[in-house]
Amino acid sequence: MTAPVIHIERLHKNYETAAGSVPVLKGIDLSINAGEFVAIMGPSGSGKSTFMNILGCLDEPTTGRYLLNGSDVRSLNGDALARLRNQVIGFVFQGFNLLPRADLASNVALPLLYCNEKKHARLMRAHAMLDRVGLGQHASAHPNEISGGQQQRVAIARALINHPKLILADEPTGNLDTKTGDEIMSLFKQLNQEDGITIVLVTHEPDIALYAHRLVKFVDGLITYDGAVMAAHT
Ligand code: ADP
Ligand code: MG
Repeated sequence: MTAPVIHIERLHKNYETAAGSVPVLKGIDLSINAGEFVAIMGPSGSGKSTFMNILGCLDEPTTGRYLLNGSDVRSLNGDALARLRNQVIGFVFQGFNLLPRADLASNVALPLLYCNEKKHARLMRAHAMLDRVGLGQHASAHPNEISGGQQQRVAIARALINHPKLILADEPTGNLDTKTGDEIMSLFKQLNQEDGITIVLVTHEPDIALYAHRLVKFVDGLITYDGAVMAAHT
């Protein structure tokens, strides 16, 4: 048996604020296997983004265990953690987070800046990824010249550039209309089914969650449901 992509045990996260220590994640256990497509839902403030940031190694848990692709994240030093994160994870955010002054190819090539490849090779790879998301002909355009849906495709191409095993997406359709959101979800579905990429995606829209196979619900820092997507809606 291969290790799960994500294995979390008894994870707690407190934020230290002027008013004291605020518990936000209160004991999360979760395992996600390679190839799964998981939707995370829950009320605003229930800790979803905090959890995604920890999954993405952008933030640390207060206590608990996190194995990413079999490696104990909390035992790694900064360099080793950055390497693991780069190799395994691609991120997609609600706000696209593209650099406005860079063309689309440069935006997609951004995660390759610190690898040893020459600029030409990096841009070739970026072009190939833009082709993959249907935007090959726009490689030299800038983000403000394309639609929101197209910008999210560019962000997905950027997330794919290192051939990640796992894509983490925090409300990736939150800024898009329904039709464009569906197009983006079809792309995620394709990446999951055809390329076997594991996807963990936060959404507050039940229709978007239907693209996933498994639903995890957060309420007040705890998982209150973990199971089939359809069952939770009937
Ligand atoms: P969700 O994504 O489910 O809306 P968040 O994870 O963003 O929830 O936030 C969970 C709770 O943690 C909220 O009460 C929020 O105000 C608080 N919170 C989030 N980030 C911080 C922070 N950096 N410092 C202090 N509190 C925070
Ligand atoms: Mg959030």
